[in-house]
Parts: sequence; structure tokens; C-alpha cells
Amino acid sequence: MVEEVKPIDEAFQLPTLQQDELLIDVRRIEGRKTERQTPDDRHDPFELFMVCQIHSCPLFEIRYTLTMKGATVVLVAGGHTHALVLKEFQRRGLVLSDLIVISDSEKSPYSGLLTGQIAGIYADPEIYIEVERLTRSVQGRFIKDAVRGIDFKTRDIETERHGKIHFDLLSLNCGARPDRSSIQGSSAYAHAVKPTQAFQQEFNDFLTKASERVPVRIIQIGGGVAGVECSAGFRRRLDDLGISADITLMESGPVLLPSHNRRVRRAVLQMLSSLRITVRTGEAVHEVREGQLLTEREAIFPFDFAVQATPAQPQEWVRNLELAHCGNFIQIDDFLKTSHPNVFAVGDVAKNPHWSIPRAGVYAVREAPILCHNILATLSGSPLKSYRPQKRYLNLIMDGHGRAIASRGWFYFPRSRLMWWLKDRIDRGFVRKLNTL
Ligand SMILES: Cc1cc2nc3c(=O)[nH]c(=O)nc-3n(C[C@H](O)[C@H](O)[C@H](O)COP(=O)(O)OP(=O)(O)OC[C@H]3O[C@@H](n4cnc5c(N)ncnc54)[C@H](O)[C@@H]3O)c2cc1C
Repeated sequence: MVEEVKPIDEAFQLPTLQQDELLIDVRRIEGRKTERQTPDDRHDPFELFMVCQIHSCPLFEIRYTLTMKGATVVLVAGGHTHALVLKEFQRRGLVLSDLIVISDSEKSPYSGLLTGQIAGIYADPEIYIEVERLTRSVQGRFIKDAVRGIDFKTRDIETERHGKIHFDLLSLNCGARPDRSSIQGSSAYAHAVKPTQAFQQEFNDFLTKASERVPVRIIQIGGGVAGVECSAGFRRRLDDLGISADITLMESGPVLLPSHNRRVRRAVLQMLSSLRITVRTGEAVHEVREGQLLTEREAIFPFDFAVQATPAQPQEWVRNLELAHCGNFIQIDDFLKTSHPNVFAVGDVAKNPHWSIPRAGVYAVREAPILCHNILATLSGSPLKSYRPQKRYLNLIMDGHGRAIASRGWFYFPRSRLMWWLKDRIDRGFVRKLNTL
């Protein structure tokens, strides 16, 4: 459902942007030299940002650091898009004199590595982007706190422990989580794959107790790619720990992965069968009780650990924001702007009614260069860039045992070590790049 975009209040005037000094740091092979220049009125801050990139040749490297003073820019949450925007600031040597990042954790999990972590392939620290470190590297202020609401009239962000935080320009990248309210009793008796850190803790606690009562029964609710990979991850982890387990994957629809081509669907079913995972399609879970799961056709399934990985929804405070919404998501336009002229929203929390794309980290990643440009352009009154999401993207579906299936539109590549090698290389490389300062 698309809401009318209603004006919230007048676009407030952003404080005039001023440039501080431009620091040009020339590193030569034999030494180092730093020059300071104060940009004069002829320098447009936006254009300066655009030329602010590292120039290097075999003999020397020139780094510019441009400080921009003026507006308070607040990035809410360190999702994929914001992490990449911070990285881009760092790469280009841009310092916003009043940049604040508010996130409920110093580090943010990278989606591509989540299920590999469940499988035990990746250690906990390997899957995290170090958002606090990234923020500090661009001289921003990191506030570890959870946002609970935003007052757009006073331009204050309400946090749990730090009270109100003022903003001039705001961007929201706080993701979405499986909708617990869609299944009665899920919050009390089942677990959700997101938020990731809470899930890791709950899964580890379960594993500690699991060896005492074998075989354990695990039910994965939701047969999308996340659910398929989680089931494969559970199998690998429990096998490695020598814990025997009955794993069931439940999907309300008639088939798994309906948006993927037939060959991919067949290969995924073969993969799950080889991993001894029972697949139950057409089985809509409507209630979870202690140790029992009830489906719409009134079947009862006992379990020791039930996990929900159904389609994600924004948190309640996001749904209550005085912004136009599209369904429960924050409605955005092609420039990633919300119905408020000085507020952007990106990643899973946002939705453009004209795009028909799934909730996937790939899109949050691709939005980053556009958001980076548009933040700077808004600050300096320059034209914004629009974002066109790609229609398809490459899915590499892991089996948790060193192989993966490739799927993209009509393209299919069988479960193989080659595809796993590719996935591992892309995902690890992504996190490594962000964490290398
Ligand atoms: C098991 C699983 C596997 C997946 N695998 C893939 C995959 O392989 N490829 C892919 O493209 N997508 C995958 N996805 C989807 C992917 O995780 C999301 O689309 C992606 O993470 C969205 O990124 P984001 O930047 O919007 O937000 P997130 O990555 O969800 O980041 C949101 C951040 O906001 C913080 N936050 C949340 N609420 C608050 C608050 N109130 N205050 C402050 N901070 C807050 C969180 O701590 C988090 O750091 C997977 C999803 C799941 C569940």
C-alpha cells in the first residue's frame, strides 16, 4: 500500500556550509610533506569533494583532507549503506565537522556471512563491519544507543540512553527484522535470525544444552534463501559438534524459492535432501507454543529450537515515524529521499513504490555511492543523483559444506566448490575492505 506523500513541514534551511582548511598531504617515497591551504570562495565544497581522492603514482601519493563545517549530519545505524558511505568519506579524505553515527552496536553484521557464521565456518568477529572504527576514522562521533523515535518538527532523535540528539540532515539505515507478530507466540517461544547478535547468543546457549538431549529437533520457519542457508548451516554446525539432529524447513508457499528458476529450485531440494533436511511446503505456521508449533491445517510439530526467517519488517518505532510509508517501510523516491526533504532512508528499512525488489543486502550496498553523493549535494545545494536498482543479482546459495549453487534470473550453476570459493571470496573481501583503515 502506497501512502500519499504529505508534506511534514517546510524544508528547513540547512546551515551554510563552510570549508575549513584543505590539508594536502604529499607522501613521497623518501619522506613526507604536508601543506595547508584555506580554500577561498572560488572553491565549491561539492566540487572539492569530487576531486578529493587519492592520487598515487610509483613515486608519491597525494591525499587531500577537506573539512566541511556547518550542518549536523546524523546517520542512524551502521547498516551496509552507511558503512560504505563512511568508507567513501575516508577514502576521499572528507571530514564533516559535525558527523554523528548512532547505532545500537559498535559493529554491524555483514549479511553475506551470516549463515556461514551459523555453520561455524566463520568466527564471530569475521562477519562484522567495524562501524565505530570507521566513524572515528573520519573524525565522526559514534554514539552507541538504540533510536526509539524522531521528532521532525524539532529535528531531534530520541535515543534510549543519550536523550535527544539534534540533526540538520539525517539518513536512516536501521534494517528490518522477521515480523514476530505474524506468528502468535513466536516472540516468546521461537527465535529470530535478526537481530544477529541476540540470535548468536541464543543459538550458542541452545548448543551448550543440546548435547544433553539427543537427537535435537530444529524447525526453520521460512523457506526463502535465508531459511535454506540457515538450515544447511545448522546441519553443518551440529554435525561438527557430533550432535544428531532432525532439521525441518517449513514454508507456507507451495514451493521453496518461487522467484528462482526451476533448475535452481530442483538443485536446492536435492541439496537439502542430501543434508537430511526435511522440507514441508504448504505448511503455514500460525502459532508457536512452548516446544510445539501449530500450522494452519492444525498439525502439531514438536521442537527443541524453532527459528523464524520470514520476510522482514521495520521495527515499530519506524512504522510510527511521521513520514510517508509504503506498507510498513519508509517511502523513498528515486533520490533515496523520504517525504521529508532533509531525511534519507536506505536499505531494508526503505521502499520505493516504483521498484519491485526483494529485501537484500545487495541493494543496500548499491545505494551507498548515491547516498554519499546526495548527502554532499544536499549540503552544498548541488543536484542530486537518482538510483536505479538492478532487476536481478547473483545469489550464491551455500550448502554449509564447502559448496554453493549459483542463481541469477534464468542462469543456474550447479552446486560446486567453485561457486563456494567465489561466494567466500566476495563476502570476506567485502568485510576486509571495510575493516582495513
Ligand atoms: C540469515 C540471513 C541471510 C541473508 N543473506 C543475505 C545474502 O547472502 N545476501 C544478501 O544480499 N542479503 C542477505 N540477507 C538480507 C540482508 O541481511 C539484508 O537485506 C541486509 O542486511 C539489509 O541491510 P541494511 O543495511 O538495510 O541493514 P542491516 O544490515 O540490517 O543493518 C541495520 C543496522 O541497524 C542497527 N539498528 C537496528 N535498529 C536500530 C536502532 N533502533 N537504533 C540504532 N541502531 C539500530 C543494527 O544493529 C544493524 O547494525 C540475509 C538475511 C538473513 C536474515
